[in-house]
Amino acid sequence: MNIKISNLSFKYEKKAKETVLNSINLEIKPGTINVLLGLNGCGKTTLIKLLSGLMKPTEGTIEYDGRNLQTIKIRERAKIFAYVPQQANVTNDIPVRQYLSYGTTNTLAFYEHPGKEEMERVEDVAERLHISCLLDKNLGEISGGELQIVLIACSLIQNTEILLLDEPTSALDMKNQNLVLSILKDVAKEGKTIILSSHNPNHALYLDSNVVLIHDGVICDEGPAKELIKVEKLKPIYGEHVCVSRDLGYDEISFKD
Ligand code: ADP
Repeated sequence: MNIKISNLSFKYEKKAKETVLNSINLEIKPGTINVLLGLNGCGKTTLIKLLSGLMKPTEGTIEYDGRNLQTIKIRERAKIFAYVPQQANVTNDIPVRQYLSYGTTNTLAFYEHPGKEEMERVEDVAERLHISCLLDKNLGEISGGELQIVLIACSLIQNTEILLLDEPTSALDMKNQNLVLSILKDVAKEGKTIILSSHNPNHALYLDSNVVLIHDGVICDEGPAKELIKVEKLKPIYGEHVCVSRDLGYDEISFKD
């Protein structure tokens, strides 16, 4: 499914002087991974929230396969994309298994409950993300990083064509970062479209993704990670200390004094 953002601008309040996103034009091709990069406050989360339909553009449009997002009903949106926010307000006393089963309801009629097939989907995704051992714990009894993996699992259980993930690895240790990123890679190979924000340019290299560089609410560059994650391209955004180390199969971006 193609996503097209045209002339999108956004202000949190109509009367606000400051426009958080300015004249954004972006086309996302099916089956691609797209990493939004940029400094804190540049507008990554805002763009992902707009793509999820949680907020309306002040100007411009977002189209999913030629259909304006605003004309797509919430129930249908849940079949098209899954959205994982940076922070989720979850009820602490719900078991992880039950919470994950809610991810299957987008394919059920409103009067249906998740059955055997849906619960098997929950078990399969939990196994894939190494969280089977959490299924019987309550959400309030797991760590912040474990909760982040549960939220990602829930988005995979929704089995939508598109995944919108706001900093999906921010609370994860290195091993789990690798697990989640490698699963996202596999999922893209299966044909899904992924849009995620990240603070780590190396993640874009690892994912061999398309990169959207945002600065002060404007897309300042876009293209394959291999072409964009370069010191000369990142210095204007991240500052003079950006450097590169060549110990890996790819050029790792880091900082030095
Ligand atoms: P990023 O995800 O890149 O860190 P955000 O999209 O969260 O950036 O924020 C972009 C800008 O919008 C920032 O200047 C931030 O202060 C502002 N902002 C974010 N959320 C709100 C809000 N609810 N109300 C007003 N301004 C907001």
